[in-house]
Amino acid sequence: MPEATRSSASAPCGKGAAGSLDYQALSVRALETGLAEVPGYESWRRLDPGPQTPIDVRYAAMPVLTKQELRDGGPGWFTPRGKDVQTGLSAGDVVFAQTSGSTDDQVTIVFNVPWWEASECAAWSLNDHARRLATGSHREAVIASPRCVGPGCIPRPRPMTERIIGRHLYLNQKINPVWWTAAEIRRMADELKQWSPVLLEGDPAYLAVFARRAAELGLELFQPQLIFLTYSFPSRIYLRQIRQVFGAPIASSYGSTETGHVFMECEAGRLHQNTEQCRVDFQPWLARYGGPLRGRMLVTVFDNPWFSVLHFDIGDVARLDDRGPCPCGRSNGLTLASIDGRTKDVSFTADGRAITVDDIDAALAKVEGLNAWQLDLPSPGISRMHIMAEPAAAERTRIQVREVLESIYGSGMKYEVTVEATLQHEPSGKFRFARASFPVDHSVLWKAE
Ligand SMILES: [Zn+2]
Repeated sequence: MPEATRSSASAPCGKGAAGSLDYQALSVRALETGLAEVPGYESWRRLDPGPQTPIDVRYAAMPVLTKQELRDGGPGWFTPRGKDVQTGLSAGDVVFAQTSGSTDDQVTIVFNVPWWEASECAAWSLNDHARRLATGSHREAVIASPRCVGPGCIPRPRPMTERIIGRHLYLNQKINPVWWTAAEIRRMADELKQWSPVLLEGDPAYLAVFARRAAELGLELFQPQLIFLTYSFPSRIYLRQIRQVFGAPIASSYGSTETGHVFMECEAGRLHQNTEQCRVDFQPWLARYGGPLRGRMLVTVFDNPWFSVLHFDIGDVARLDDRGPCPCGRSNGLTLASIDGRTKDVSFTADGRAITVDDIDAALAKVEGLNAWQLDLPSPGISRMHIMAEPAAAERTRIQVREVLESIYGSGMKYEVTVEATLQHEPSGKFRFARASFPVDHSVLWKAE
């Protein structure tokens, strides 16, 4: 959730706006309302084959909404005609929210808190621990970039009271977790204990540093009952550090400011679609790049009265689960094995194979002493891997990481691996995993030639 947009009231989970409509009916309503009432979709209308056509075919005929279009259109462009944004802002029904884009793709959207909370509540029902613990009035603590969530960044440190919004305490005040001093780690550990949240929500990159530093300082941490990982890819390297100090079950919650909560990891470790709140059209990649199990996701939001999102490319790589029914028994919508990182972070080997963030992370998981990684590709054929490592094992870790990279990309690449004191964060405070400095056309992944 973006800055300062969490409601100060404690809103218990109620019945969502979906009411008794089923998934197909909600899909029809979202499409028809968007096409009829939203300026941003006026040009799509002529492409709609019409109500006599099956809804999946109608969606397939639609263009793909991108962040670029959301940004170019401006906030009012995707608000239905019956709603006046200025009136909504004055009445406090909506706020302008900046999405926490990882790169230059920040978008200002019209953000409606009740919609977001309904989406969150529906997602909680997809994990048994969350369903049991998350009542809507439970306490949460958050460790993530202060530019993504919380009361906002100011030059002076805020006291704890200023960082409590409703039932949420925002612990972090630094854009890069490496900047935390030992005193700040202790302060966060103390506040965590004082607040005693049921749930701890974290950006894995921040939570891992907190976990590692707290362990180094010998701090005994308050134990929440559930940990939600969100905001960015849950690297195995980060999970390893988080699990060293926290015993609670960990679940990945996946979504975005534009779409609300789209997937939730169940207690069996698979990601289930939030079918009460959104439609997801999965577009598989071509077989040579890892399709049909890997693909992109086009998300349609069902019930946001202020901001219509149709067929939106959310920008991450999804991997369908093909292991049969999930042991948890949930079967509505798509079930994913994982989200494999940002699409823009996908790179290619010299012989044209697609490498996702997850591919690299899975291979690096076996390297002991590795605390974080970030791959830069300054030009085709050249890779510069930046790692953070345990000081005592830094050189061995560096050599092993180089070997892993070579095993992934092959001999057609130059490799440089350096041990760093910090990785480079985006303006939002998020950390990208793989960054190419040259244009890469990722549409080849799903476009048939
Ligand atoms: Zn499940």
